[in-house]
Amino acid sequence: MTNQTDPTGDVRLTGIAKTYGAFTAVHPLDLTVPQGSFFALLGASGCGKTTTLRMIAGLEEPSSGTVSLGGQDVTALPPYKRPVNTVFQSYALFPHLDIFENVAFGLRRRGLRSVKKQVEEMLDLVQLGEQARKKPHQLSGGQQQRVAVARALINHPKVLLLDEPLGALDLKLRRQMQLELKRIQTEVGITFIHVTHDQEEAMTMADTVAVMNAGRVEQLGSPADLYENPRTTFVANFLGTSNFIEAEVDSKTGGEIVLKAGGGKLVLPEARCSAPAATGGKVLVGVRPEKISLTHADDAGEIPEGRNRITGKIADSSFIGVSTQYVVDSPVCSDFEVYAQNIDRDPRLVPGAEVVLHWNPAHTFGLDAAQDAD
Ligand code: ATP
Repeated sequence: MTNQTDPTGDVRLTGIAKTYGAFTAVHPLDLTVPQGSFFALLGASGCGKTTTLRMIAGLEEPSSGTVSLGGQDVTALPPYKRPVNTVFQSYALFPHLDIFENVAFGLRRRGLRSVKKQVEEMLDLVQLGEQARKKPHQLSGGQQQRVAVARALINHPKVLLLDEPLGALDLKLRRQMQLELKRIQTEVGITFIHVTHDQEEAMTMADTVAVMNAGRVEQLGSPADLYENPRTTFVANFLGTSNFIEAEVDSKTGGEIVLKAGGGKLVLPEARCSAPAATGGKVLVGVRPEKISLTHADDAGEIPEGRNRITGKIADSSFIGVSTQYVVDSPVCSDFEVYAQNIDRDPRLVPGAEVVLHWNPAHTFGLDAAQDAD
């Protein structure tokens, strides 16, 4: 049953929800994952990402809502009848079978006899052609995970679901496998939906990331968009560090909002403000630490016009190699964190020094100050 308006391999969740007794693990959720994309469900432990993935796989029955794949409603179909396959953190390889037979398993179960060409192609894809006759215990963790991916891809699913597949690997291997999975996805061109709690992993691999919090998708977007334009403090904090300043809307002109903060003014592009921003209303102004420059107060006259600026006093500084990280106390925001990429470190920038923090208004984002109040 193909629907003419949705002829592709999109994954579409419509009002999908999951409750366990009185507890709601996933609130009604509408989400479309475009065909061929690398999509990440990102969030802290317990936010509902695995439950969402399992509902797509058919391993968990939704309490309400529908799942469709390529325009076909698959909500009532058992997992094995859905054109999806899942890779779990525990690779679940068959220990007594060699790598070739592990990958061939799905084909043999379907009664296919001449599997050699397909298995070899798949082992080449995951760069394990040389390891075909080894047993799983003779491979590294990363290699075993690649066997699990090959085994999941051999039946040509439309969608590959990956549930924290790199969770058991050490950091270095994890980083390598992130790039490797990205390469495999680009090569096979099918949709990958990847569950992770690691923001760097999601940002490295995915075209689109859904940030989940307490059973809801809090924001959806490209990694760059989520980082540059977070719409909630949760997203701003989950994807990196942010500084926040409480400000009041003074006026709006030509696509810009002018805000009062402490004794000074800050400018925020209207397009980067997710708060209602009526005159006199409160806005939480955010700026990423690495966007901020730090100038000694004696040199404040050298700061170009048009930059947002606030004054403060250095509370702490630590040299971390490529840059120096400063903590600055300011009347508008205490413990303002600044990562300044000062190559020629100004020797006057030491704890106690009076400084001006300044940045391009284009790097400012505005959040609803009331959102976390309830
Ligand atoms: P993690 O990264 O720790 O796996 P997650 O974001 O994937 O977390 P889920 O596994 O989807 O979270 O679980 C979401 C919530 O639903 C959690 O609070 C969990 O305790 C609860 N939950 C999951 N399965 C069940 C179940 N069978 N019965 C009751 N509660 C459950």
